[in-house]
Amino acid sequence: MSNLNQNHCVHHNKELTYFCESCEEPICKLCTTLGPHNYTLHRINSLQEAFKMRVEHIKQEILHNILPKRDEIFAQINRIEYRIQEIKYVKNIIERDCRAEMNGIEDRLNQAESMKQTILQHQISVIQQDLDEMNDLAIQFFNLTKKNDYLEFLFDSQSLLDRIEFLIAKPYNKGLDEIPDDLPRELTDLRLLLGKMEGQQQLLEILNEIIWRMINERKHEEELSQQILKRHSENEIKEWQKLVEFFTEQLKESEMICYFCNEPLDIKTINKTCKKNKDDIPDNCKKNYWIYN
Ligand SMILES: [Zn+2]
Ligand SMILES: [Zn+2]
Ligand SMILES: [Zn+2]
Repeated sequence: MSNLNQNHCVHHNKELTYFCESCEEPICKLCTTLGPHNYTLHRINSLQEAFKMRVEHIKQEILHNILPKRDEIFAQINRIEYRIQEIKYVKNIIERDCRAEMNGIEDRLNQAESMKQTILQHQISVIQQDLDEMNDLAIQFFNLTKKNDYLEFLFDSQSLLDRIEFLIAKPYNKGLDEIPDDLPRELTDLRLLLGKMEGQQQLLEILNEIIWRMINERKHEEELSQQILKRHSENEIKEWQKLVEFFTEQLKESEMICYFCNEPLDIKTINKTCKKNKDDIPDNCKKNYWIYN
């Protein structure tokens, strides 16, 4: 019943056989003559034609607007996913490096500690012998006196006294041969180095500022007249060049390392393909990038 009604005009209860393009709704034949969609005032179309037009319109929208945008979004998702992998990859390299470094630091600390342990244990074992001899002497003395054998005691008493004299006179090491303060504190040393590095980073920023000013000044050069150039730019550029040379010298002291494998870089290896960075990342990403060390 409702289905039947849906396909029939609400005004005339006739079958919907036309489409009013002006009102964008299906209508019956009577609607076009009796209203409300009079054909002299409204643009009337056949159902089939209205259907075809809309199918074509939507098809064109999908083809020319939705599909390209869908492709863009798809490509963007791929780029994001690739970036996630990149971040993971670089993080793993850094993590591996951290772990190796930490293991090295721990090994060297353990080595230093066991060396100290060995030396102190040896110091104990040397004076432990003296202690043992003193205990032996006391035991022998009590055993001899317990027997009440005068002769035996008198035969041995001189040798007991000799041993006592020897033990009293014998020097022993009263010092402590090791201290804890010189255990290797590599992280502390690294932190100190980092402090120095920050100073160099500041130098780098000053250098960038100078270069930026020089570039701007060159732009000015072109814009300004020769007269202004003479009194304005040349001397300043010379001053800045001197500064750049000075800071470049300073920066040579900072070493550069490979972004991927942390190997030190020089003029020859910088921005070249990293040997250790094999197939995990496509060719265009294989270059080693430098950072200040
Ligand atoms: Zn009608
Ligand atoms: Zn109409
Ligand atoms: Zn490398």
